[in-house]
Amino acid sequence: ENYHALLAENRKLFNEIQDLRGNIRVFCRIRPFLPGQKEKKTSVEHIGENGELVVADRSKPGKEGHRLFKFNKVYGSDATQAEVYADTQPLIRSVLDGYNVCICAYGQTGSGKTYTMTGPNQATKENWGVNYRALNDLFDISQCRKGSITYEIGVQMVEIYNEQSFVCLDLHTLGIMTHSQPNGLAVPDASMHPVESTSDVIKLMGIGFKNRAVSATALNERSSRSHSVVTVHVRGKDLKTGSALIGNLHLVDLAGSERVDRSEVTGDRLKEAQHINKSLSSLGDVIFALAQKSPHVPYRNSKLTQVLQSSLGGQAKTLMFVQLNPDASSFSESLSTLKFAERVAGVELGAAKSNK
Ligand code: ADP
Repeated sequence: ENYHALLAENRKLFNEIQDLRGNIRVFCRIRPFLPGQKEKKTSVEHIGENGELVVADRSKPGKEGHRLFKFNKVYGSDATQAEVYADTQPLIRSVLDGYNVCICAYGQTGSGKTYTMTGPNQATKENWGVNYRALNDLFDISQCRKGSITYEIGVQMVEIYNEQSFVCLDLHTLGIMTHSQPNGLAVPDASMHPVESTSDVIKLMGIGFKNRAVSATALNERSSRSHSVVTVHVRGKDLKTGSALIGNLHLVDLAGSERVDRSEVTGDRLKEAQHINKSLSSLGDVIFALAQKSPHVPYRNSKLTQVLQSSLGGQAKTLMFVQLNPDASSFSESLSTLKFAERVAGVELGAAKSNK
């Protein structure tokens, strides 16, 4: 398949747009087929070296169903957690230099959002997701800088469900405080724990993650109907100058982006779906407004964008992981994910160009 001429033609445009976009990055990640998955027909046609992705609607003949997208990076299904994190790490470091950073994962339920952000269930160090690796690095780097800068690190986990936020866990380097919530999101141990190592924090974060509300839908038994936000507050003090460095890191596992009709929902489930829809489109609107350098950024339109406001816009750096299920039967859901991402990435190629 000769996409190269088309890709070369678009590359200049991509680069120009990326220069304008500065602090917003979009990485697309395609998860592998799962061992139990029968259909092995993929909608992924081509992954280019420079963040190009061609997906195909297999119900259409030949190239008719092909669509080209362009992101900062595209990871195929063989990408490891370490490879993905290697590209994320510079952002984590910049939190210790006093920047605010937001890293979020977007996609339909089952597309690998939690895998990218947290890792699989019972993750080993090897398949840790971004948030454990990020915390590990924050502790390690702050230890290395101990002679010149002293850091305090606090970790908070919040779940946003139906436009309300609930604290799942509240940790601080001087001691870890876990809360019992009146809303039923109880954290078992309500005592203070000293934090001695990253693994202490990780153990407790595991408890926080379990406190996420999950409920069954036709699409996936344990689909996440809430947004999970891990906030890391970093406060550094330069020992020579006495000046302060303050950075926040938001690590966000977004609720599933699947459309309501696919999940066949009514009643409470419909209400949940509408809240999710509203908050995800608000997030898209905020990032789009920032990318357009619009004078009005609509942060107030959802709880999610209010919570993330400090790490979106201004000097803040934003990274969105766009997660895809490779299965050809998920094509229409993948396409709507990619269209959302393309708007956020600011690179809309249009059908004519990509279908040439
Ligand atoms: P989501 O959070 O989007 O609902 P998950 O992260 O739970 O999706 O992923 C769905 C399933 O696919 C899980 O069993 C997960 O372990 C697996 N999975 C996702 N991404 C990968 C990957 N890159 N490598 C191996 N397994 C993956």
